[in-house]
Amino acid sequence: MHFRRNSLISEFQSGFTPGDSCINQLIHINDMILKSHDKLDDVLGCFLGLTRAFDTVWHRGLLYKLDRYGIKDHVNGSKLYSWFESYLDNRGHRVSIDGKVSSIRYVNSAVPQGSVLGPLLFLVYINDVTDGIESDIFLFADDTSIFKSGKDTVSMARTINSDLNKIALWAKRWKITINPTKTVSVLFSKRADPNTDFVVRLNNDIIKLSQHHKHLGLWLSSDGSWKKHIKEIATKARKRLGCISKHKYRLSRRSIEILYLTYVRPVMEYGNVLYDSANQEDLEILNNIEKEALRTITGARRRCNLELLYNEVKWPCLSKRRELQKIATLGKIIINNFPKYLVRDLPTFYSNTRNNRNNTFAIPAARTDYYTKSFVPDSVNLWNKLPPEIRGIKSYKALKARLKASNLKSVPKHFYHGDRRLNVLHTKLRLRCSDLNQDKYNIGISDTDLCICGEIETCEHYLLDCGSNLVAKVEMLDSIMEILVNKGLSMEEADDRLGVDLLLYGAPDLTFQENVLIFEKVQRFIGKTKRFDVIIN
Ligand SMILES: [Zn+2]
Repeated sequence: MHFRRNSLISEFQSGFTPGDSCINQLIHINDMILKSHDKLDDVLGCFLGLTRAFDTVWHRGLLYKLDRYGIKDHVNGSKLYSWFESYLDNRGHRVSIDGKVSSIRYVNSAVPQGSVLGPLLFLVYINDVTDGIESDIFLFADDTSIFKSGKDTVSMARTINSDLNKIALWAKRWKITINPTKTVSVLFSKRADPNTDFVVRLNNDIIKLSQHHKHLGLWLSSDGSWKKHIKEIATKARKRLGCISKHKYRLSRRSIEILYLTYVRPVMEYGNVLYDSANQEDLEILNNIEKEALRTITGARRRCNLELLYNEVKWPCLSKRRELQKIATLGKIIINNFPKYLVRDLPTFYSNTRNNRNNTFAIPAARTDYYTKSFVPDSVNLWNKLPPEIRGIKSYKALKARLKASNLKSVPKHFYHGDRRLNVLHTKLRLRCSDLNQDKYNIGISDTDLCICGEIETCEHYLLDCGSNLVAKVEMLDSIMEILVNKGLSMEEADDRLGVDLLLYGAPDLTFQENVLIFEKVQRFIGKTKRFDVIIN
């Protein structure tokens, strides 16, 4: 494209830019703020509310700008400008109701939406808002924000106000509306009592100084903490998980898992490479939601061991996922050498004279632990610790596949099998959180670990040794023996294999069908014994 090839679109624009994202811009803004705080500077930010900017792009103005960016008829003898002119001017709107077609109404503003060119033309239109602005300015489509750092908040506000004046004049000239009530300023400061003796103004309106602002989906807080963001995403995630939990016994384990992974966890993980530096206490809020999800999926009880739960679903925990996400995000920036504004945020590669393909970073000294824990220094640190062969991977796709392969295991498919209620009872035996007396005794909710027969009621005792439910037990064990013998094992070998592990987990050397059969037999036995009938209502 003409605009990208010739770098005509501001590099501070992240919206609609292939390969760039909200998160990239947020990383950059966050890094800028934390670096300033590390120098004991404050940062004053102003987030502008451009209202319905998509609809207000003004055709004559856009054509004027296209011309200025070199879209002309005489270039290579082409009729590029005329083409754009007719593309924009002759876009009539016609309504068809009951077969009757209205007359065409021509509109002279708004770029065609839902087209490939629309967003790009919008970027062209808004591009020169950055001209002459003294503060740092960032665009994401029409989301425009400006930042000024320093020690004297009053003089910072003066710069911001002078830039807001320029932006207001620009907006007036190009017929774009800035809504002062949707415009917010935030003073990012680590000081207990920063000087807020200033007023941010847009035209004659006083702009609200806020403690928090949601920018591109992430709550930024004046004190630099992630408390507010985590609280917001936790509320949303909890509500969604609640809807799923209501159907805990009506849906299959697989359905619940898919719902959680597609509908709840992404809500909690938006911005996770940034909020990873949050207080443990705040992160624990998210861990607890995932714990609740693990219990909903498996049917496990409250005090179930967390390690067993994670092993049951084979997921890396949230903090491990954040770590992997950070490595992947950094890897993408390094491998693609893009976006440039983030490449510049990274420290320089450590040059090792003996092996310059070492691909590790020189970590710059940071004054505050608070900065060290943030995305850029921390992800660079994680990167340096990777095995050299991973750091040497030259494609982002390959890097992602590699990270995934070494961290994701899959759940044996037969774990998903069977009637939901019996599947839950079976799973609870596996997770050592069943209603067997030993399990209850171990977590302190039963006075005894003994079976009614007088032996300790272990899982093994219940499934194999106890004298009660003998008919059902013999039936189960006989049919499982048969499966093993049919596979070619001798009676003796089959008898050796027939232990509690086989009944709880199946075995990797058996086929899916064979494992399913074993699970069916065990679950039928669990149903027949009625041992757990009281617990699910
Ligand atoms: Zn017994």
